Amino acid sequence: MIDRRGYYGEFGGAFIPEMLHPNVEELQRNYLKISESEEFKKEFNQLLKDYVGRPSPLYFAKRLSEHYGTNIYLKREDLNHTGAHKINNTIGQILIAQRLGKKRIIAETGAGQHGVATATVCALMGIECIVYMGSVDIERQAPNVSRMRMLGTEVRPATSGSQTLKDATNEAIRDWINNPEDTHYIIGSVVGPHPYPDMVARFQSVISEEMLWQLKEQTGKEDPDIIVACVGGGSNAAGAYYHYLNKKDVRLVAVEAAGLGVHSGESAATSVLGTKGVIHGSRTLLMQTDDGQIIEPYSISAGLDYPGIGPMHAHLISTERAEAVSVTDEDALKAAFFLARIEGIIPALETAHAFAALDDIEYGKDDVIVVCLSGRGDKDLGTYIKHFDKI
Ligand SMILES: *Cc1c(COP(=O)(O)O)cnc(C)c1O
Repeated sequence: MIDRRGYYGEFGGAFIPEMLHPNVEELQRNYLKISESEEFKKEFNQLLKDYVGRPSPLYFAKRLSEHYGTNIYLKREDLNHTGAHKINNTIGQILIAQRLGKKRIIAETGAGQHGVATATVCALMGIECIVYMGSVDIERQAPNVSRMRMLGTEVRPATSGSQTLKDATNEAIRDWINNPEDTHYIIGSVVGPHPYPDMVARFQSVISEEMLWQLKEQTGKEDPDIIVACVGGGSNAAGAYYHYLNKKDVRLVAVEAAGLGVHSGESAATSVLGTKGVIHGSRTLLMQTDDGQIIEPYSISAGLDYPGIGPMHAHLISTERAEAVSVTDEDALKAAFFLARIEGIIPALETAHAFAALDDIEYGKDDVIVVCLSGRGDKDLGTYIKHFDKI
């Protein structure tokens, strides 16, 4: 849990330009007061139930379990409206923004999943929405760009630098500085200045809140032995770990993207390659050169292609509460094809990394393992089709 200044141990805090202080302080002062009020919780829970389709099932994967010789349960975030866990957070933040009197929403997106989840809740509430996206990503992720536009969102290209996620983030921050009064910035993972990592983790914590009673119902006990989740910024992992963080017997496994190999120079394995520094407003582990320039990350999966990691995960990994595993593009692809064939579920490429990690971790035959199935693979079909020879 964070301290008063938003730190998990030595990681976190709020490193922001002077001009952003009013916006960030307003959020820091109000996010808990608002999100813990009965009136907020009622509307949040109602929307999660009737609009998102929660609770998401906890599914015992029989054939996958037989294959690995253990007991594997899948937390089905892929069945949520818009196809991933990201909507849990955007519903929470749009309700906060309304209560702060905001009339305009901005966000940034890489693969477009967070952009779609943000565009969706803005349409739901009738609020103006602008999503910044690198021009390279706009070309690569055309279907998600069309979805956002159909939902009434303006997609603004970021044309500077490498024209990808970090450039879109810079544009969004610039917009927020220029519109401090009426605009809320919806960040899509447990990254950014305090209070974002804590606020997003709380909205995603519904994942493990449901796991507690679902496991009890199906296995007789609330606690699994191991929870496995992929980590880009770390929001689906934060949600899946949340209610188990203080239960030391539950092992937490964080799976990162190793791209072409951890030490290949084309990787996003931040917990191995990262060093302490500040990125997007918080002190955490990030991939940087000796003089502090960000190293461009690489992963086949756009949702894991991030040079940093949320401060909560930097803390969990460096204190050895969580185990980090790195999975290559190739192993993730194989795991996706395998899951499709053995369970009839096509996972998102991000999520496929979590499944590949089942080959790398130690477990016993009586263990209960929960894998957070963060999203579905429709958006990745183009990539999968190119790799049909991996079967
Ligand atoms: C965005 C995304 C991720 C990575 O983000 P986290 O904040 O680390 O959860 C993982 N899985 C899916 C399906 C995503 O869309």
